[in-house]
Amino acid sequence: MLEKIHQSIDEHYSEMVETRRYLHQYPEVSFNETKTAKYIADFYQDLGIPYQTGVGGNGVIATLKGGKPGKTVALRADFDALPIQDEKDVPYKSKVDGVMHACGHDGHTSTLLHLAKVMQQYQEELPGTIEFVHQHAEEYAPGGAKPIIESGALDHVDAVFGTHLWATTPLGVLQTTKDVFMAGTDRFQLTIQGQGGHGAYPHETKDAIVIASQVITQLQQIVARRLDPMETGVVTIGTFEAGSAFNIIADQAKLTGTVRFLKTEVQEQIIEEMEKIIKGTCVTNDASYSFDYVKGYPPLVNHANEAEIVLEAGRNLEEIHTAEEVVPVMGGEDFAYYTLHKPGAFFFTGANKEGNPYPHHHPKFDIDERALPIAAKTLISAYFGYQYE
Ligand code: MN
Repeated sequence: MLEKIHQSIDEHYSEMVETRRYLHQYPEVSFNETKTAKYIADFYQDLGIPYQTGVGGNGVIATLKGGKPGKTVALRADFDALPIQDEKDVPYKSKVDGVMHACGHDGHTSTLLHLAKVMQQYQEELPGTIEFVHQHAEEYAPGGAKPIIESGALDHVDAVFGTHLWATTPLGVLQTTKDVFMAGTDRFQLTIQGQGGHGAYPHETKDAIVIASQVITQLQQIVARRLDPMETGVVTIGTFEAGSAFNIIADQAKLTGTVRFLKTEVQEQIIEEMEKIIKGTCVTNDASYSFDYVKGYPPLVNHANEAEIVLEAGRNLEEIHTAEEVVPVMGGEDFAYYTLHKPGAFFFTGANKEGNPYPHHHPKFDIDERALPIAAKTLISAYFGYQYE
């Protein structure tokens, strides 16, 4: 049956591309994806597959109950876009100013929709139940995964699988891990309040630029000097704003940045060290500060058994020449919440478009659409692998 299903997926290739290109032209940013949610709901309405809307926000979940007994498996695709101006020169370029599907979530959505359409043909013979989980707001923490799970919509599910079309991985390559796969991602904002004054009289001021510079330099020593070398962490200062003129000493400095980690213990250690450094440096310099640390997505940890099922699915697919275990990546994903809640695995489907070197979130980002049926086949193969394990 799996072979027949794969064939049917291939027959839906042009429809898959058409849907992806339609969605690509009408992107919506996180938490505002109402038209996309409606498009998805209408698709299931037309098919006559039962679905729920408004799950945890803009989420849509469609349910295909097979004619044979089996386990319930959720397949997840996200559908939000980014506040980025599309700079590609293609006929399916974004028609919405300043908004773009620059991460491939349009492709995820089309893949899952057409997989549902195909699987409906096999409903009678299908073991178990497929929950097609269309998730809003992956790009912006707190994200859509958490409220979908908190709504209880997936409490009855046995396992969850999901994929990301990956533009920097070649077509025909599948990548995953049997443990932590993607990083936890936090952000912070730090405002240091000194005392401004004339550039000629520094002794009468508390120079916010000098104090902030000390803080920045010391923050870099958390990873270099405090963290166990065997652990992974990132502390990045992304912005530093201070000062107004060449001969005025700045009264205030504002910093923002991100922290990345693969274990929550490392996250806790980094936060503790940051607080000590900031407090200590500001006390030494008679400055005050406000430190706003916002926890984002936790690390995405795959379950070994489900990851092996994915790898096996990849090994059995003709289009996939390499199904490999890789080292974790420092990007984040709110798929992390699903594998905290249920057994599951997330994987990358290689989608590099020849001649397009641009990574995710780049204004010229694009994918090789031949990756869509590969993603669909891998997901459904994993589904069957999980049913018959
Ligand atoms: Mn993404």
